[in-house]
Amino acid sequence: MKTKIIFLFSVLSICCCSVKNQKSIINQPIAIVVHGGAGTILKKNMSDEKEKQYKEKLKEAISIGYQILKDGGSSLDAVEQTILVLENSPLFNAGKGAVFTHDMKNELDASIMDGSNLNAGAVAGVTVIKNPIKAARAVMEESEHVLLSGKGAESFAIAQNIDTVNPSYFYTEKSANSLKRRIENEKHGTVGCVALDINGNLAAGTSTGGMTNKKWGRIGDSPIIGAGTYANNKTCAVSCTGWGEFYIRGVVAHDISAMMEYGGLSLKEAAQKVVHEKLTQLGGTGGIIAIDQKGNIVMEFNTEGMYRGTYFNDSVQISIYK
Ligand code: ASP
Repeated sequence: MKTKIIFLFSVLSICCCSVKNQKSIINQPIAIVVHGGAGTILKKNMSDEKEKQYKEKLKEAISIGYQILKDGGSSLDAVEQTILVLENSPLFNAGKGAVFTHDMKNELDASIMDGSNLNAGAVAGVTVIKNPIKAARAVMEESEHVLLSGKGAESFAIAQNIDTVNPSYFYTEKSANSLKRRIENEKHGTVGCVALDINGNLAAGTSTGGMTNKKWGRIGDSPIIGAGTYANNKTCAVSCTGWGEFYIRGVVAHDISAMMEYGGLSLKEAAQKVVHEKLTQLGGTGGIIAIDQKGNIVMEFNTEGMYRGTYFNDSVQISIYK
């Protein structure tokens, strides 16, 4: 009799438990946010055709990420696959469309972070990796390191069977023109993504060609965990874009998370304080996208515009200007 009671009790508690788990999964929102860089992006300088191209590409990218989340996939996969689409487009300053350095080369940076365990991976200054976000993920998952740079990062990526290209692949008229005109502050176009999956896990990723006309192996915030990218299930996932030096000095992505963790601020309060007060006072320009575990989303920038998009509740929204 006693064993029967114990057995019944166990069955009952297993049932209750799985109902509870199911409920928490059913209530768990999924959402994804993307950016394609911030800067002096003005409607008067944009043709209808160009605007359409940007919007369509952002929509295509974020839709792929959202479908992964809908199918029960991880936020990491959603972030990686969304960024991959943008890296393969010449429109953005990442992958194919990466800007030129002073020496007419392309040196690409990328990073990714898993908010469930604070694992992270990044590559900096790579010149032959077709999709730096893939290499960043491989650093996170297949090495015991966080950040690999230059030739070493490339050898590692090749050993991981990650696609390489001839550096001429990265040539685009747009990047060549920016360099010719030495428009150093024409620096928008970096891409980034943050996502929340059905298991409540957050992830963030960022990919860039850096800044036009950069010299001396300059590396910005995008591959620096805590500066350009950060994710922590306890707080939020963040991806930044803008003048990288200021994001490094302000440790912007981590600062937003820290304000939530230690200061009890909401995501919105933390993001607004960091972008509109701290970063702006430091002299930095740019923006951030972020998401928390409840699916709250913020997209803050102190520039004229930021290519951006959100997908949640089965509804997608793409915007460019303020
Ligand atoms: N943050 C990038 C860098 O400084 C550039 C950008 O986001 O536009 O390398």
